[in-house]
Amino acid sequence: LRLLVCCGTPCMAAGSEAVVAALRQRLAESGTPAELAVVGTGCLGPCSRGPLLTVQRPEHPELFYERVTPELAVTILDCHLRASSLPEHNLLPPDFPFFSRQLRVVLAGSGRIDPEDIRQYIGHGGYEALAQVLHEMTPEEVCDGVTVSGLRGRGGGGYPTGLKWHLVRKENGPRTFVVANGDEGDPGAYMDRSLMESDPHRILEGMAIAGYAVGAEQGYLYVRGEYPLAAKRLQTAIRDAERLGVLGSRVLDSSFSFRVDIRIGAGAFVCGEETALLASIMGRRGQPRIRPPYPAQSGLWGCPTLINNVETFGNIPAIFGMGPEAFAAAGLGKSRGTKVFALCGEVVNTGLIEVPMGISLREIVYDIGGGLSGGAAFKAAQTGGPSGGCIPASRLDTPVDYEHLQELGSIMGSGGLIVMGEGSCMVDVARFFMEFCLDESCGKCVPCRAGTIEIYRLLSRICNGSATTVDLENLEKLCRMVKDTSLCGLGAAAPNPVLSTLHWFREEYEAHLRERR
Ligand code: SF4
Repeated sequence: LRLLVCCGTPCMAAGSEAVVAALRQRLAESGTPAELAVVGTGCLGPCSRGPLLTVQRPEHPELFYERVTPELAVTILDCHLRASSLPEHNLLPPDFPFFSRQLRVVLAGSGRIDPEDIRQYIGHGGYEALAQVLHEMTPEEVCDGVTVSGLRGRGGGGYPTGLKWHLVRKENGPRTFVVANGDEGDPGAYMDRSLMESDPHRILEGMAIAGYAVGAEQGYLYVRGEYPLAAKRLQTAIRDAERLGVLGSRVLDSSFSFRVDIRIGAGAFVCGEETALLASIMGRRGQPRIRPPYPAQSGLWGCPTLINNVETFGNIPAIFGMGPEAFAAAGLGKSRGTKVFALCGEVVNTGLIEVPMGISLREIVYDIGGGLSGGAAFKAAQTGGPSGGCIPASRLDTPVDYEHLQELGSIMGSGGLIVMGEGSCMVDVARFFMEFCLDESCGKCVPCRAGTIEIYRLLSRICNGSATTVDLENLEKLCRMVKDTSLCGLGAAAPNPVLSTLHWFREEYEAHLRERR
């Protein structure tokens, strides 16, 4: 018997540590049978139902218990020890659609292994891809493999990962660096945090493979300052990997050396932008700069630098574990593989999900998410955070991939997906995201620094009923100006939620004007 208790941040906030403690105490009292284990794992997914407990028994299907108290956990354990039937309350149905519609590649180990035990990662095939790459492939073949897989940047940009790796490798600088971007900051998004907390070795393995491919011996993991549990587990993972020789000098007895250090961000959203992030690692103010030169040519200390999101690195072991062609089998068009989303808002089943690219928004909201809470009608889904847009009910059957979301005026982004019901005011939604952007603007360029404040002021006038039709016209003009002239992606994408809601929900803006006091 294995009892897996989810110890991701949401389940810990709901009391999962007390569940683990109660189970371990009960085991100690009863004289622990050798085949029995209690494992604190990373995130299993349905975060609003925590604490979650998975029961694994030989020759039985897995059972998933929700909202588990220490008392219920001990009852489950006692029933097993007495060979009586397990309790049926708080048990998720065997066909719980939240799990059945997903394809877990990056999240394969999340909720299944103890993230602080390297032996469990290795026991599930971890570091095999790194060994295979180091002993059987040239760096160029590794870059080719990533290209064949069709993997694109999961941080939001969607740039072809294999192409980026080739570009960095060809620079052939005196020193080359690999950087993993874990500075997630979109409202409603926690995919990266969960991955770092749940399966830190997967990210390290992806970074090491990248280091070998592009000729880097040093990697940096940039972790958002508000993610202390992720930083702690990554630090533990680095220490254990060095101790076992899968990081450090002569990785896995090869001639390749690779070290990883963690850098903690200080809470600035703009440091998720790659040039600002690199400046922050070098100890400078975290502000973006004009590109070119791109980091692939001149990044950390002027050296070629490969920078990818942590989810992108999390895909790499799977690509070489299953083969690039098998990886590319999932997906749609130019969007291959899977995508992790933080599904939140007014859905019944909120949580962390991983789905094949091309699944429809309707399947995500109604099958995986279980529809809207209280039976409300679907109004919109917001993807891509403050850089994204809102998708209306008439486009619920849109396939979720890079191209289709862009056609609708939104973006994939890093994976935040907020579902809104009929009661949401879309002008309020646009104003919320604009307030976020003006707070987070670094102030370096005028269009973003001053433009976001003015857009927010116009939206507030519309919301409080004091705007005129001229204000609405100015709002649109200003949004396009800020979009076209801002220095970095934060400012350039800040007007997207406004433009998107103006496109799909213009009547709501006009209704506010008619209410003019
Ligand atoms: Fe800073 Fe905004 Fe300009 Fe980006 S667009 S450099 S965040 S002021």
